[in-house]
Amino acid sequence: MVISRSFLLLSSMEYSAKFEELKSKNLSLDLTRGKPSSDQLDLSNAIGELKVENLDKDGLDLRNYGEITGLASCRKLGSQILGCTEDLVWAGGNSSLSLMSQYLSFLFVEGNGARPWGAQERVSVLCPVPGYDRHFKLCETFGINMIPVPLTGEGPNLEEVKRLVDEDKSIRGIWCVPKYSNPTGEVYSKKNMEGLLDIFGKSDNKSVIFWDNAYAVHDLSAHLPLDDIFDIAFKRGYEDCVVEFGSTSKITFAGAGIGFIAMSKSNQELFLPFYSALMIGPDKLNQAKHVRFFQENNLMEHMQLHAEIIRPKFELVERQLKSLGLGSWTSPKGGYFVLFESEKGLARKIISYASELGLKLTPAGSTHPYGVDEDDKYIRLAPTACSLEELEAAMEVFSCCVGLAYTQG
Ligand code: PMP
Repeated sequence: MVISRSFLLLSSMEYSAKFEELKSKNLSLDLTRGKPSSDQLDLSNAIGELKVENLDKDGLDLRNYGEITGLASCRKLGSQILGCTEDLVWAGGNSSLSLMSQYLSFLFVEGNGARPWGAQERVSVLCPVPGYDRHFKLCETFGINMIPVPLTGEGPNLEEVKRLVDEDKSIRGIWCVPKYSNPTGEVYSKKNMEGLLDIFGKSDNKSVIFWDNAYAVHDLSAHLPLDDIFDIAFKRGYEDCVVEFGSTSKITFAGAGIGFIAMSKSNQELFLPFYSALMIGPDKLNQAKHVRFFQENNLMEHMQLHAEIIRPKFELVERQLKSLGLGSWTSPKGGYFVLFESEKGLARKIISYASELGLKLTPAGSTHPYGVDEDDKYIRLAPTACSLEELEAAMEVFSCCVGLAYTQG
């Protein structure tokens, strides 16, 4: 949170009048999901038109089964996005979230060299908060007990992580979104990565740091390189405790991109038989098209085109929140979200007011495991998917709802 001021520009009656006026407009607005807008998707339209040879240079027929870990050229593309070496990366289907679920299935059924998670009475995973609701949903679906740990602005609170891990032997991992974290926007420091590795690398139960690097190249202005966690881990001998994920969902097409998973050679050997039982091979034509597209278009320049489209949206949100002058909010340098923090006990109310005015927001509590934000104060705003005009209207509604919630006491 970078800014926090509190002054009321309007009285409760004035906010109520504004509320009624907005209600009469029958609006239908949505700030829920961090999706690319259609003009962002248009940046990659050439992928659909690219012609790639059916046979690659080694004679492999891209239309057929096989090459389970992905085309070598696409694995290399994945390594450029994730910022690690290409021998660690596999290129899969269209979603990193499904790779996460496949890796979790593997941990439950076979285990990564230790007792399978499914054979354990209770499996817990640390969830830095505020965090990503789909990580929480995955855990809930798998029956994993989630333990929240606070984020600090440069990664999870390490003292708390250590205390919990020392105390609770059911803890087998932690979710991390190391760059432009969803939804806090923070970037993990090298020191924080070292601390996490020292805690999880030393544990004797093959704990997993789920390193979800979803926003690795998603800067709003200059590119900010993130330290490569594998590089740090190798130097300590802890590379087996990291499994990294990423995708081109917010680089090319969210529904038709490429997902990546990266892990040490020994983890690859353990995971491969399980993964091969789940499928026979990824969509290599799409992988080849992505590779060709990024031979013709520089990845970082392409990301700057995204930034030019979405930066004005982040600026608009910030401008409107500044003029509202209530609560506090993040000013992220990349990623897809702004996190608004109200006074304690108001988030639910604000979200319900917004819903009355036709503005959809992610449900209160969705930034926390089991949907429980005890302070009831966090609201995630996702400004990218709508047009600037819609966003302006949405932020007017949001400001009115915040103002009303604050003034109603
Ligand atoms: N991880 C994070 C942190 C995300 O924010 C998102 C998208 N909202 C995803 C994963 C989903 O990625 P994918 O489309 O590759 O499944």
